[in-house]
Amino acid sequence: MKRNHVLSWDQYFMSVAHLSAMRSKDPNTQVGACIVNEQKRIVGLGYNGFPMGCDDDMYSWERSGEFLDTKYPYVVHAELNAILNSIQNLSGCTLYVSLFPCNECAKAIIQSGIRKVVYEDDKYNGEPANLASKRMFTDANVEFVQLSYSLKVTVKQNNH
Ligand SMILES: [Zn+2]
Repeated sequence: MKRNHVLSWDQYFMSVAHLSAMRSKDPNTQVGACIVNEQKRIVGLGYNGFPMGCDDDMYSWERSGEFLDTKYPYVVHAELNAILNSIQNLSGCTLYVSLFPCNECAKAIIQSGIRKVVYEDDKYNGEPANLASKRMFTDANVEFVQLSYSLKVTVKQNNH
């Protein structure tokens, strides 16, 4: 007899996005992204972090103060990392992300050929960058769908 209550595809890929977010060293915001092709295969993963070679111990995660002393000029968002880390052309792919994309990531999503964005949290709903993303997605025919639930993924280590 088979198991019936397995994860749905949406739950599965959003869970992988959450798992990726656990790698983020940002003390305030951990975002994960998972790109899936039309065969439902994962082709890109990402989380918010500094570029290669930019040491986490040398850069600050601060959100306020002098611009160059904050995280903002340096951090690569989860969606962009997932696109840049991807292993194939992304035309027709779907991006799962735990937080609705900012306008900078929206541009990269559109230009990469991704056709659908599935997101969970939309905490910046109505703010300018958020509105710009929605405007561009709408004009570029990138579908964006919010999950009707939120997921909690935990990893528990049992030493033996
Ligand atoms: Zn972004």
